[in-house]
Amino acid sequence: MRYSIFSLLSEALRGNTGWQPAWRDPEPKASYDAIIVGGGGHGLSTAYYLAKEHGLTNVAVVEKGYLGSGNVGRNTTIIRSNYLLPGNIPFYEHSLKLWEGLEQDINYNAMVSQRGVLHLFESDGTRDAAARRGNAMRLEGVDAELLDREGVRRLAPMLDFDSARFPVMGGLWQPRGGTVRHDAVAWGYARAADRRGVDLIQNCEVTGIRVENGRVLGVETTRGFIGAPKVGLACAGNSSRVAAMAGLQLPIESHVLQAFVSEGVKPLVDQVIIFGAGHFYISQSDKGGLVFGGDIDRYNSYAQRGNLPVIHEVMEAAVALMPSVSRLRVLRQWGGIMDMSMDGSPIIDKTPIAGLYINCGWCIGGFKATPASGWCFAHTIARDEPHRLNAAYRLDRFATGDLIDEAGTGATPNLH
Ligand SMILES: Cc1cc2nc3c(=O)[nH]c(=O)nc-3n(C[C@H](O)[C@H](O)[C@H](O)COP(=O)(O)OP(=O)(O)OC[C@H]3O[C@@H](n4cnc5c(N)ncnc54)[C@H](O)[C@@H]3O)c2cc1C
Repeated sequence: MRYSIFSLLSEALRGNTGWQPAWRDPEPKASYDAIIVGGGGHGLSTAYYLAKEHGLTNVAVVEKGYLGSGNVGRNTTIIRSNYLLPGNIPFYEHSLKLWEGLEQDINYNAMVSQRGVLHLFESDGTRDAAARRGNAMRLEGVDAELLDREGVRRLAPMLDFDSARFPVMGGLWQPRGGTVRHDAVAWGYARAADRRGVDLIQNCEVTGIRVENGRVLGVETTRGFIGAPKVGLACAGNSSRVAAMAGLQLPIESHVLQAFVSEGVKPLVDQVIIFGAGHFYISQSDKGGLVFGGDIDRYNSYAQRGNLPVIHEVMEAAVALMPSVSRLRVLRQWGGIMDMSMDGSPIIDKTPIAGLYINCGWCIGGFKATPASGWCFAHTIARDEPHRLNAAYRLDRFATGDLIDEAGTGATPNLH
């Protein structure tokens, strides 16, 4: 069923009795041409682009819970391409371009909102780093503008500019960044993949990966064995556990990241604001709630909930940046499991096992990558070689030393 103003009108006239389920609920077949493990944003977008770009439609997405139950439905919805390093900028810019045409492409309102991302700096050192990043972006044709204090004040007058500890000196502004409604991304890609013939199999946990003579044969699941000559893993926080089923040890640690939503207030934060001095970012949802988050909880865990010390830290940063929010009530808080790589950059690659492909290492920033990640992973799976956009995201770079250390902190996931 195609969504349009006409379908809305005709359903309004007949009492909304004609809407069809957004996707089918098929039984798993005995085998497919390709299986994607993980029905998050990356798995679903991979399946969609496999069908759309490569004509591979005999594909299943196998998800242990329900579609979108992982990080794609838990994040703070920020999209941007303000990266510094050559491996990252073109990839994330490709993603931003795909976001810009996504709703028309998948015929789904994902509420893509290019309200701009403002990354603040509060010292001479961070100003220089922001200028360098902005220059790197512009050299790659990405929009970036260095704002001084007054430039920031015009965009975000509610910030505390005179804080003795963290006086706002300016910011790096990316007008094309913004937010996208996270769960609508999962639903939109799911529906679009289903329309092209992909089977979306929920409540089906992968419990083993069958490998023979160095080649993948399929996956063992709670609903039986499903065969496929190609299997792509897109399991985010559970990547290490699933890859271990094929005997692979990944350079990934799993950590909790929390998000928070306040009670609704009138429009206050028009952009996405990232506070450089503390690890803190904030935007406002269309319902009026302030949506914000901070750093990871800094201990390894698979529990999708967080702990008090980071809550304390995040609230402290919120009030330091915008004292006016100090009396707001936080209504909701939750956590997701982040697949933290050892250099802060992702992995989209083949593995040493023929037919087995890996997509992981998204750290705290994989939502913005959802379209490009699926697009590149689909290319890698269909052609059995990486696209030039993900050529740097190799699994063996941790052995060869070709790291993409965006944060400049080395193998310290807790600092990314
Ligand atoms: C609180 C929070 C805030 C964030 N904010 C942002 C942000 O503002 N911007 C941004 O760019 N990124 C953000 N992120 C990161 C982003 O959400 C993730 O990097 C991204 O969603 C990960 O990819 P995914 O959507 O495929 O993951 P997921 O949605 O987690 O998908 C992985 C799926 O694999 C399934 N799975 C796992 N094991 C198995 C198995 N054995 N069998 C079958 N299925 C399995 C899981 O159930 C899950 O559904 C945030 C994350 C969190 C938690």
